[in-house]
Amino acid sequence: MSVSTHRESSYGHHKGAQDVVALVDDLLGKAVEFAASDIHFEPTSSELMVKFRLDGVLNTIERLPKSLSDNVVARLKVLGGLLTYRNDIPQEGRIQVSGPGDDDVIDRRIAVFPTIHGQRVVVRLLYKSRSLAELNQLGFSGDIFAMLKGIAAKNQGVLLLTGPAGSGKSTTLAAVLRQILKNWPGRSVVTLEDPVEIRIDGATQVQIDPHGQMTFPTALRSLLRQDPQVLMIGEIRDAETARIGIEAGLTGHLLLTTMHSGTPAGALLRLLEMGIEPYQVTSSISAVLNQRLVRRLCDNCKKRVASELFEPVGCDDCFGTGYKGRVLIAEMVQLDGQLRKAILAKADLEELESLLLSEGHMNILVDGHRLVGDGITTQDELNKVCGIA
Ligand SMILES: [Zn+2]
Repeated sequence: MSVSTHRESSYGHHKGAQDVVALVDDLLGKAVEFAASDIHFEPTSSELMVKFRLDGVLNTIERLPKSLSDNVVARLKVLGGLLTYRNDIPQEGRIQVSGPGDDDVIDRRIAVFPTIHGQRVVVRLLYKSRSLAELNQLGFSGDIFAMLKGIAAKNQGVLLLTGPAGSGKSTTLAAVLRQILKNWPGRSVVTLEDPVEIRIDGATQVQIDPHGQMTFPTALRSLLRQDPQVLMIGEIRDAETARIGIEAGLTGHLLLTTMHSGTPAGALLRLLEMGIEPYQVTSSISAVLNQRLVRRLCDNCKKRVASELFEPVGCDDCFGTGYKGRVLIAEMVQLDGQLRKAILAKADLEELESLLLSEGHMNILVDGHRLVGDGITTQDELNKVCGIA
């Protein structure tokens, strides 16, 4: 397979309907082969760009001639069971899984959106092997792994996960829930998710419909009458969900949830901004876990530049990116007396951060340096993921 990510399209000569079918099959197959998480079909004024998201980064794979654009999009819509004659509305569907190499693919969601240059299509791929990882296989440091096991054993409290979209939070939550179900098979575990991404055997999983009747707050209120012991809320997005969730964590439920925030201290303050009282935060939150995924240097082509430091190069194995696969970096803050006192005293972000620093907290960059030092990733990659210019 060619490595160049900006080569002339080899599909330019395709004309007929059969060719478009083969072309789309080929692109879908290639995406699975390289474990892409998303395929983008982006129309411009002159062509249809095809991009794969590999290890979190978009790479241009093909530039198809504009003349093929309508047929390619129409074929994708047929596969996704969408209305081919409606080009003016957003549509969402699923592409039924089939074909060689697809055993590992559990879901292919397709979303079509009209733009001024034509319809833009994104296909999201979900893989079985990644979502089935056990807690001890995720790559947490020994300290964090031990803390997570401690939380899993609790009967109440809240574990809050933070990090931007695509930082592996769902995979971690699923692994913690599986750990709970494995060690305490009788515990009643219920999840509320939008959408349900990872199937967890033994858990009751509920799909939220944020625009319909089944919103996070309504579902959560009814659910608490179903006697759950362990609750997972896919994400806290609003004050009402936060309030009901925190109360659940205070009244004999173990709650696992996620929130968008850059740091553990930031997540704690965000709860206060949502109207949760400081004493509710300090008495319900057991710990905050902040995580990111950094790209792993491709073992086949990485170049040694110092004793244990390597640079990305690019080869056939890694689609010319120099990276293949991703590894987790994380930091975890358990609420101790000092931190509780500071939150009750309405400390700001800076004060909370400096308190953590003075207590010897290992932040996410320190965890990342461990991987740079071991030649697993690069400082550049770490800086990019952690938002350091
Ligand atoms: Zn490589």
